[in-house]
Amino acid sequence: MLQLELLWKLQEIDREMNASRMNTKNREMRGRLNEIKKICVGINKDLNIELEEFELAKKKVAKLDIDLKYYEQKIKDDDLKLYKNGMNIKAIDNVQKEIESFKQKADSIEDEILKNMEKCESLKESMETKKKKLAVYKDEVQTLKEKYMDDSKKSKKSLNELNRNRESIIKEIDPDLIKQYNDIASNKANPVSAVINGICTECGVHLNALALSELKSDNKVCRCQYCNRILYNK
Ligand SMILES: [Zn+2]
Repeated sequence: MLQLELLWKLQEIDREMNASRMNTKNREMRGRLNEIKKICVGINKDLNIELEEFELAKKKVAKLDIDLKYYEQKIKDDDLKLYKNGMNIKAIDNVQKEIESFKQKADSIEDEILKNMEKCESLKESMETKKKKLAVYKDEVQTLKEKYMDDSKKSKKSLNELNRNRESIIKEIDPDLIKQYNDIASNKANPVSAVINGICTECGVHLNALALSELKSDNKVCRCQYCNRILYNK
């Protein structure tokens, strides 16, 4: 195989290796993982706020329950007083008024208990929904991570294979030509440029007649007069 043909092959391997390293799929995957992370931080924050509200409402219900029992006991005590002998009408009247006011208090406490219980219920529902969402995201993260690892393994394997091919091709190419290739590669992509219809395909310049005739003569390495790449007559 001609030296330039081998060099062209080397460049193709290098292109493939670069593409494999800059795996765009992995970048997309990382982007999605970061996105999910941000969403989950937000959900967890809301979840904590709701949990605090839930605990507060639950404590309030417990406290109101104690208050309710207190007034219910008071009403019972007053009821007993009414059956005692020797109470005059005025005293009976007063006890009945007191019972009425206790009952009103107990009613308003019951209302508040109900309101807080409803709040607890709706918070519980909302927290359940958020937990379910988090579980779905957790599954997606797991799947993405597994796929990421699988892809990395595959790309590592293909990189190793490409590297083996690269090593064996390099052995067949003149070291001076490899040096030229590496020098160009250090500041430009694709050090070898295919010439098609007299045009350097990398920079688009038309080669002059002299350059073209030199290019057609075998065993001569020509460089593009404009971009300085090694020219390969395809
Ligand atoms: Zn050029």
